Amino acid sequence: MSLAPPLTPGTAFRQLEPEVPMDARAAVREQVAASRDRLVALSHRIHAHPELAFEEERAAAWCAEALDAAGFAVERGVGGLPTAFVARAGSGPLHLALCAEYDCLPGIGHACGHNLIAAIAVGAGIAAARVADDVGLTVSVVGTPAEERGGGKILLLECTRP
Ligand SMILES: [Zn+2]
Repeated sequence: MSLAPPLTPGTAFRQLEPEVPMDARAAVREQVAASRDRLVALSHRIHAHPELAFEEERAAAWCAEALDAAGFAVERGVGGLPTAFVARAGSGPLHLALCAEYDCLPGIGHACGHNLIAAIAVGAGIAAARVADDVGLTVSVVGTPAEERGGGKILLLECTRP
């Protein structure tokens, strides 16, 4: 009878990690480091220009432009929502979708951090896209308007329903 070795701190996560080549992991880390300053600047820019639900014209454009520049195919205004977009890279069988939120709260700006959520989604997408062909990924960054009020994601789901 074989028993799994006891879990000790630091081993549980490793045991659950899928088999990803170390060079792919290193490439992702390298990409995140290379993008860091631009991502922080994107986050600060969105924070400094808060836009309410369905009015996130600049934030959506800045995120889409960053992904476009990184080689993503970007479709703007998806679902009839002018501030929604889908940016796609890779064509692998595992589809990774990251939601970027970028609307602010009325009266208090980006108090809940959608500027961070947007920049993190863009950065994670760019890093994942770098290894998409190596590890079999399709990467989509979905720009989702109106998280604070208005249900932007619900509208996007409804428009894609067959
Ligand atoms: Zn929020």
